[in-house]
This record gives sequence, C-alpha cells and structure tokens, in this order.
Amino acid sequence: MEVTRGRYNPNEFHEAFENNIIITTIEKALDFCRSRSLHPFLFGPACCAMELMQAMNGRYDLARYGFEAVRATPRQTDVMLVAGTITNKMAAVAKRLYDQIPDPKWVIAIGSCAISGGPFADSYCVTQGADKLFPVDVYVPGCPPRPEAITRGLLQLRDMINNPEIAKVKRHG
Ligand code: SF4
Repeated sequence: MEVTRGRYNPNEFHEAFENNIIITTIEKALDFCRSRSLHPFLFGPACCAMELMQAMNGRYDLARYGFEAVRATPRQTDVMLVAGTITNKMAAVAKRLYDQIPDPKWVIAIGSCAISGGPFADSYCVTQGADKLFPVDVYVPGCPPRPEAITRGLLQLRDMINNPEIAKVKRHG
C-alpha cells in the first residue's frame, strides 16, 4: 500500500513497512546467497562420478539450481563432491584437495564407497569413507545413487546452509 504523501497515517505506514522490508542479519543474508550459488569441486575417482556427470547433463539439469559451475581447481569452489572409491593411495590427495578449498566449505559423499568403502570396505587398500579424512555434511547412499538422488543431496545441502537453525551445519576450518 502506498503511504499517503503529506499526512502521517500510522496504519498505512505499518502495512507498507511489513510488506516491503525484511529484517535479517548479515550472516543469514550471506548464507542465503551462498546456498544459491554453490561452486562444486568434483572428486570422482570411480564409477559414481558417471552418475554425477549424468546429474549435470541436460536431462537432469543441475544448472536450474545454480550448481553447474564446476571448477577444475579446489581454490575456486566451496563444496566438494566425493563420488567413488577412495583408495589409501588417493587418501592423501583427497585430504590435500579438501584443505585447498577456502572456508566456508562443505562435503557431499556420493555413493556407498564414499560413505563407507562400499563393496570394497574390507579391502586392505581402500579408505572406509570420506569422513575418515575430513567432515562430511550430506551422505547420498546407493551403488551408484541415481542422478535424482544426487540432485536431492545437493538440494539438502542448500537447505542446510540456508537454515542452520533447523539443520546444524558444520562450518569447516
Ligand atoms: S558405490 Fe558402487 S558405483 Fe559407486 S564407486 Fe563404489 S562400486 Fe562404483
């Protein structure tokens, strides 16, 4: 409602105030912006990475949520997508890449291997989940998970970042 010029009407003023002004904190505004422009870093050492690539193609279209800007360097990203089996030889590489992502940062473990080692959990050469190396925020189960499940995991992370009061988000680092 337009406030009448020249005359002060408290009711009109309050209605205009309620409809047009949002009071929030800088922290919440930043969380909202971050949750809508996540820049993923793809760490895909095994077959789950194929499903992640499918999630990003035209059929499933992750771009509609603003997640399509995958970077080749972790320094320009804020969410690490771990999709595949982490061998013990690759564990140090995965940790180093995670450390290179600037704060705040988040991690999604995609598939059984990234969650717990999956079918290779008993192997002498496989790390039993990404969370043995660094904190993980969202787990997407499956061997492999379908693109819809991966999309849901990213949307879940978006909601967690945007609503830290209903889902405790770890701020790494
Ligand atoms: S969870 Fe299954 S599909 Fe994914 S990397 Fe492991 S073996 Fe491959």
